[in-house]
Amino acid sequence: MIVVLNRDSTKENLDSIQKRIEGHGLRAQISTGVERTVVGVLGSIPSEFKDEMELMPGVAEVVLISKPYKLASREFHPEGSIIRVGNAVIGGPDPVVMAGPCSVEDEEQMVATAKAVKKAGATVLRGGAYKPRTSPYSFRGMGLDGLKLLNIAKQETGLPIITEVMSPADVDTVAQYADILQIGARNMQNYNLLDEVGATRKPVMVKRGMSAPYEEWLLAAEYVLAAGNSQVMLCERGIRGFEQFTRFTMDVAAIPVIQRLSHLPIIADPSHSTGKWYLVTPVALAAVAAGAHGLLIEVHPNPDLAKCDGAQSLTFENFDSLMGQVGAVASARQAPVNAS
Ligand code: PEP
Ligand code: MN
Repeated sequence: MIVVLNRDSTKENLDSIQKRIEGHGLRAQISTGVERTVVGVLGSIPSEFKDEMELMPGVAEVVLISKPYKLASREFHPEGSIIRVGNAVIGGPDPVVMAGPCSVEDEEQMVATAKAVKKAGATVLRGGAYKPRTSPYSFRGMGLDGLKLLNIAKQETGLPIITEVMSPADVDTVAQYADILQIGARNMQNYNLLDEVGATRKPVMVKRGMSAPYEEWLLAAEYVLAAGNSQVMLCERGIRGFEQFTRFTMDVAAIPVIQRLSHLPIIADPSHSTGKWYLVTPVALAAVAAGAHGLLIEVHPNPDLAKCDGAQSLTFENFDSLMGQVGAVASARQAPVNAS
């Protein structure tokens, strides 16, 4: 249920609404938008509670949300959410590009890539220090040393960092280095991890599980939001289909669907969804055309030598070429990206 306040409602009105909600053993989550203040009511809501709320001073409207995710829903927050990280404005009209290698390998690789992607127009640097690998024998990342190298690249370029955290026990450490915490596809339903990143005040990107329907994905985001962290974005990274040629199947429709169902920014990852470098640019542009708020792109100084995901990594030159096309496609979009 959401309680929409009158435009002229007072702080006292809001306080007593919150008290009344909590008096029923429910939780109140307040969202102050440009247009209006909305209170999300979380918990098992008694049937007569809607009438009770409607009578309270300052209340304009009480809406029951039938969807299982509440805080992630468009109804709760009709305007699109905006997340600001460094110079990146995620959720606004211009797509934000986050780029860098699959995994952090050494200082030279990280700093060279950071400089190259920044020069081409990326505003967030990616790089995995904790890597979820299908095989336990593959390179699983540099861990804390990798986080330190990300920090060096950040100092050199000023680019904020997005990096994956795989375990609840690592959240505090990773949060000291990361500007955006990434929840990988394989961990989308690791509820203890979602609770833990929800307890931080760092922006979180929740990647779609490879077999997750939209509702389960939005419920994963709901965990983070319900823990009190309002800075959540989603990332479509391809789903499992029957096709073997591509690594996964990019669900381009997920982008406008998420924008209809949710206010959370939606990022597209054409690297993991395709698995092949020469498919990255066309699929990235398709995602931008579909309204994506941003892209997550793997870039490596020498993809042939990459310790992880070289086949889908762009060279600096190919990344430059992609960046030269993103703006033109984005400016051809007509409907406002955040329209419901
Ligand atoms: C990644 O972005 O580094 C990654 C491992 O992606 P995914 O979780 O989507 O497979
Ligand atoms: Mn990768």
